Amino acid sequence: MSREQDDMLRRGIGMTSQRTRERLIQRLYEEGVSNAKVLEVIRRTPRHLFVDEALAHRAYEDTALPIGHNQTISQPYMVARMSELLLEAGPLDKVMEIGTGSGYQTAVLSQLVERVFSVERIKVLQDRAKERLVELNLRNVVFRWGDGWEGWPALAPYNGIIVTAVATDVPQALLDQLAPGGRLVIPVGSGEVQQLMLIIREEQGFSRRVLGAVRFVPLLNGPLA
Ligand code: SAH
Repeated sequence: MSREQDDMLRRGIGMTSQRTRERLIQRLYEEGVSNAKVLEVIRRTPRHLFVDEALAHRAYEDTALPIGHNQTISQPYMVARMSELLLEAGPLDKVMEIGTGSGYQTAVLSQLVERVFSVERIKVLQDRAKERLVELNLRNVVFRWGDGWEGWPALAPYNGIIVTAVATDVPQALLDQLAPGGRLVIPVGSGEVQQLMLIIREEQGFSRRVLGAVRFVPLLNGPLA
């Protein structure tokens, strides 16, 4: 095998043809994702680089996959839907993400908004995600190792906040860190009963929209080395 072929296989390119990727985009569209920019960013973001080599051949299935440490890379439909909800009222400059994980949602967001502030509690996942974003030359992201229940108060307020793990309640700190008109997309609930919510900071108080049942890993407590 030539070095080039070897490299292609290693990166999972042979198993993740353009056709497979196009099928995923078609499927997201059929499932109701209508934001063309979101679809275009998902089309060009190499999801196979965000999972273990052994799973690379499944990277363009519309499913969550394990990334170690009992965590999963989010399902492409969820990434698309949540990004679309964040952007529904127009472009955003400052967005905070809770739950970097593999960095896949981070990579998608970084191509849709000006700046991303991403918080993760598991150091090794964060380090790997950072490397991937550098490899892809996505430079408008800063990372914090910490507890997402607390957000990132020093850099608040944010125009958008996205949480990629399910919270038992909406964390007060995240509400506090929303700019006026800011949007928070967050799964809320526990176990089997989880709802995706969109919360908007209005002139007076917050509006809430419940968007339907979802399935996420839990938002846990405290940072982990
Ligand atoms: N969007 C990620 C999803 C990762 S799963 C991806 O597509 O890869 C959820 C992530 O949330 C995990 O990495 C988990 O470690 C992280 N997480 C859970 N509780 C957290 C907390 N309190 N603060 C920060 N990150 C947390």
